[in-house]
Amino acid sequence: MTKRDYYEVLGVSKTANDDEIKKAYRALAKKYHPDISKDPNATEKFKEVQEAYEILSDPAKREQYNQFGHEGPNMGQGFEGFNFGGGFGGFGGFEDILSSIFGGSRRESGSGRTRGADLRTTITITFEEAAFGVEKEINITKYDTCSTCSGLGAQSKNDIEVCPKCRGRGKVVMEQSTPFGRFQTETTCPTCGGKGKIIKNKCSACGGEGRVRKPSKIKVKIPSGIDDNQGFKLSGYGEAGINGGINGDLYVNVSVKPHDIFVRDKLNIFLEMPITFSQAALGDNLTVPTLYGNVNLKIPAGTQTGTKFKLANKGITNSRTNTTGHQFVVVNLITPSKLSSEQRDLFTKLSRTDEKSSSLFDKIKRFFRS
Ligand SMILES: [Zn+2]
Ligand SMILES: [Zn+2]
Repeated sequence: MTKRDYYEVLGVSKTANDDEIKKAYRALAKKYHPDISKDPNATEKFKEVQEAYEILSDPAKREQYNQFGHEGPNMGQGFEGFNFGGGFGGFGGFEDILSSIFGGSRRESGSGRTRGADLRTTITITFEEAAFGVEKEINITKYDTCSTCSGLGAQSKNDIEVCPKCRGRGKVVMEQSTPFGRFQTETTCPTCGGKGKIIKNKCSACGGEGRVRKPSKIKVKIPSGIDDNQGFKLSGYGEAGINGGINGDLYVNVSVKPHDIFVRDKLNIFLEMPITFSQAALGDNLTVPTLYGNVNLKIPAGTQTGTKFKLANKGITNSRTNTTGHQFVVVNLITPSKLSSEQRDLFTKLSRTDEKSSSLFDKIKRFFRS
């Protein structure tokens, strides 16, 4: 059988750029992946696509191929030891691309590789930690790669053999004779359970699974500006995969404790500040707490209760967008519930001078008269 032209295999032009080549490869690898494809020649085609990509994605090899074609020196090298059925071990770059295509979310029945489970956890941080960012340690018990065997599941590399029954495919073809004829069915290899390999001496720490359940500590930097109930994903920090499968992800939900005096709205902070009658009437210089220390706030004479003052840029900074909110101070007039006799005298005197002349008072007066 004559070898097809690599460009033809990938269906790209001779001048295709790296992106076009990669795109074509991804589409074809997906189409002919033997675990998915219904094409009877899927395995052959998949190999062909792999080989074409190996050459055309490497500028030096591509150049050589352009000059010499399939007969060129060193062509086909790098495919030594390509053991398709044994999984993609040793393929480096392909492994990444394949796992990005398949997302690892499915069990690849040909190899027994299973992606680790995703995990969820919640961490609680203080208002200030959310405002300024913090480094936290997450403690979680999960399946982690076995440290004794580094995930091999075997005592040594030599203890792993390609399954003789399925020759590493993880699947076997069974032939059944029935009154209607002979049928071929493909099933998971009973000898290796679909893993495609057999471990002679299993790792004693993990019993051959390559992973063990243990408590682990994960350090995480939480950026400033995160809000209550927001979260993030730590890729690969979920449970370890099985049989060479990729790790799951860890989803971290952040719970922010409420503050004693500050209330947050996105990046803005609200503070309710009590003031007295005299401060409201005469004006005053208030000392107001902010996240950045106390600041001075001048309120004018005749300040009404509920008036909102803005302290620019005293809110929270979102480190991702580099935007900063403000602090709003809402003054709240406190009516004294107990008066000393001196205060009572003064208020009585004051009341005689009260000018009830605001428009609201006028309206109410008119209402009584009518
Ligand atoms: Zn087998
Ligand atoms: Zn182990």
